[in-house]
Amino acid sequence: MKKIGVIGAGTMGTGIAHVSALSGFDVTLVDIEQNLLEHSLTSIKKGLKRQVDKGKISQDEMNAALVRIQTITEMKSLSSEDIVIEAATENKEVKISIFSELDTFCPEKTILASNTSSISISLIASATNRPEKVIGMHFMNPVPIMKLVEIIRGKLTSDETTEKVKNLVEVLNKIPVECNDSSGFVSNRILMPMINEAVCCLADGVATAEAIDKIMTLGMAHPMGPLTLADLIGLDICLAIMKVLHRDMGDNKYRPCPLLEEMVSAGNLGRKTGQGFYSY
Ligand code: NAD
Repeated sequence: MKKIGVIGAGTMGTGIAHVSALSGFDVTLVDIEQNLLEHSLTSIKKGLKRQVDKGKISQDEMNAALVRIQTITEMKSLSSEDIVIEAATENKEVKISIFSELDTFCPEKTILASNTSSISISLIASATNRPEKVIGMHFMNPVPIMKLVEIIRGKLTSDETTEKVKNLVEVLNKIPVECNDSSGFVSNRILMPMINEAVCCLADGVATAEAIDKIMTLGMAHPMGPLTLADLIGLDICLAIMKVLHRDMGDNKYRPCPLLEEMVSAGNLGRKTGQGFYSY
């Protein structure tokens, strides 16, 4: 593989473009507005600069990575990519529309991967005529730091596609772990109910946000508390995942905490808006 397309230049698309370019791939980053792409490029530059300052990469490697990234607002301008990794908004309709469109103009060889946190890969694949080449490639946030990529096989994903994608993950210096296509996969089926419960603890006045996070970091040896992590992930993303788990499992233990719903309605989405459980 040589050419990677990335759809969505938000938190995750930015990170995926960063690590792909640093690993020597030509990257085309797509979003719906030019200013979002410019913001993403600025974040990539900052991230690479931090790596140079820490002595992890050289200035030459940083410059070469930046040259490999181009940005476009028209998805149709993608051409001959070996793989397109979709990291757009966590919304079923948005993803289905992106995959059905990609399928119309991407060459037959192109693998279509989704970074979805919870939406069924088989469902996304059904929007295309190449379900054997559709796969879940669930990077963790922040992408340049986290080693895991959860690999999710849809019902019709082929062995060949799975092997190619696992190899790609290793070239990106990350570790692939395979799991089946079930709501929330493994990571978010376990993580999100914990975050949701932390929000309920806050809403019920069990403790302050700081105390909840301190109890989980000091007591459970988590590197950061659940409310800090929710702010990092984005509260809109957390809510979207809880809604998918609740709907798909039909079990009230996955009901999103009303405080989470209220904060998303108010536009307090965490780090990306400057206000979540904490101020940034
Ligand atoms: P985000 O809101 O930061 O970014 C999403 C981007 O997608 C936005 O810039 C938006 O303009 C763009 N977009 C929407 N529709 C588009 C379209 N039709 N074409 C091109 N771009 C489009 O979201 P994010 O946090 O980066 O999440 C992206 C995906 O990654 C979601 O599926 C999410 O569930 C998943 N994910 C998120 C995290 C996390 O911690 N935030 C972790 C793992 C996976």
